[in-house]
Amino acid sequence: MAEEVRGPDTTALDEVVTFTSELIRIDTTNRGGGDCRERPAAEYVAERLAASGIEPTLLERTPGRTNVVARIPGTDPSAEALLVHGHLDVVPADPAEWTTHPFSGEIRDGVVWGRGAVDMKNMDAMVLAVVRSWARQGIRPRRDIVLAYTADEEASAEDGSGFLADRHAALFEGCTEGISESGAFSFHPQPGTTLYPIAAGERGTAWLKLTAHGRAGHGSKVNTANAVTRLADAVARIGSHTWPVRLTATVRAALAELAALYAIDIDTRVPDLDVDVLLDKLGPAAALVAPTVRNSTNPTMLDAGYKVNVIPGQAVAYIDGRTLPGTEEEFAETMDELTGPHVEWEFHHREVALEAPVDSPTFAKLRAAVERFDPDGHVVPFTMSGGTDAKQFSRLGITGYGFSPLRLPPDLDYGALFHGVDERVPVDALHFGVRVLDHYLKSA
Ligand SMILES: [Zn+2]
Repeated sequence: MAEEVRGPDTTALDEVVTFTSELIRIDTTNRGGGDCRERPAAEYVAERLAASGIEPTLLERTPGRTNVVARIPGTDPSAEALLVHGHLDVVPADPAEWTTHPFSGEIRDGVVWGRGAVDMKNMDAMVLAVVRSWARQGIRPRRDIVLAYTADEEASAEDGSGFLADRHAALFEGCTEGISESGAFSFHPQPGTTLYPIAAGERGTAWLKLTAHGRAGHGSKVNTANAVTRLADAVARIGSHTWPVRLTATVRAALAELAALYAIDIDTRVPDLDVDVLLDKLGPAAALVAPTVRNSTNPTMLDAGYKVNVIPGQAVAYIDGRTLPGTEEEFAETMDELTGPHVEWEFHHREVALEAPVDSPTFAKLRAAVERFDPDGHVVPFTMSGGTDAKQFSRLGITGYGFSPLRLPPDLDYGALFHGVDERVPVDALHFGVRVLDHYLKSA
């Protein structure tokens, strides 16, 4: 029982704030052009692991694009290992749009400000603070815990988790499950209700390139084979297409939990469930599931022509598509239909959709850890609308959950802070996260 009572020490609660702030001050902006340098942040983490007797391995595919991996041996050698991963890079931030400089790491009125405060230097710092507190207290987890601090999550992951999965699989030996970003943060759909969505799946990435061919010619002539017109027709059809509802096990479980919580008398198990009616009844809480009951396709880039009176022979567009698990074939058939006979389509970039079981012992332990520190909160499984490093690690047979616990004030629009302006995280929320992670990781 002694270990149960002993939570993270006060040093851990101080360190998580310092680490979040100092990691923010190390500018690891990833614009996707290859100019990001995660190395100083990786060294910052590695030095603090090494000082606690946890041996870090630094790995690079490209100079400067550094990943850190370390293993903490568990007390039960027969137990499977658990991966805890976080990325070190951040998306760009324009200082002119912010009320405080995005790389200041300023701590003001109990809040840490800056790019990465929620995505995801907060989690990087929480994990670091927890494992260092274990070293001070002589605590070892039950399972082996593999820590991975990755580069390049905000672009292709080729220098980060993709590289680690391809070239350093041995470092992840025995890992069956992983936890990382985008889950277990409090969400307040209305006053008095606190939900903690834990991610148990991600939609797949289906970025498409469309190419329309036609007859080039003078802009003043009749042209029934205009590539720009053909492309525009296809793009309009794709952009305004309403994808059919396809409920995955995770989304159905989320709907069941929410329907029960709001005492809505709808049987969520029936095959012909009218999801739109249920979402309507859920009100603001529907935001948790609405983005993942369907596939989506958004046109994002267009490229055609070079002069106003010249019809080009070719026109190109890009589509950001996202697919639910099990819908890949339907997605391809629908794209064949929507693009039509004169427009070709191909995958520009493709990543699998993920689904993790919500009736697993791991999900039950994640749920219990949150509810222990916020007994009034309700854990709800959910599917992420986009993707994370978990996609790359899934190639190693690792089932990923989104679990970066934070208890946030009801008036903070956490979702808007991801890649948003004035990204920030309250110190209290970091302390909550350290306590939950400490408890979960010890007992996992
Ligand atoms: Zn992230």
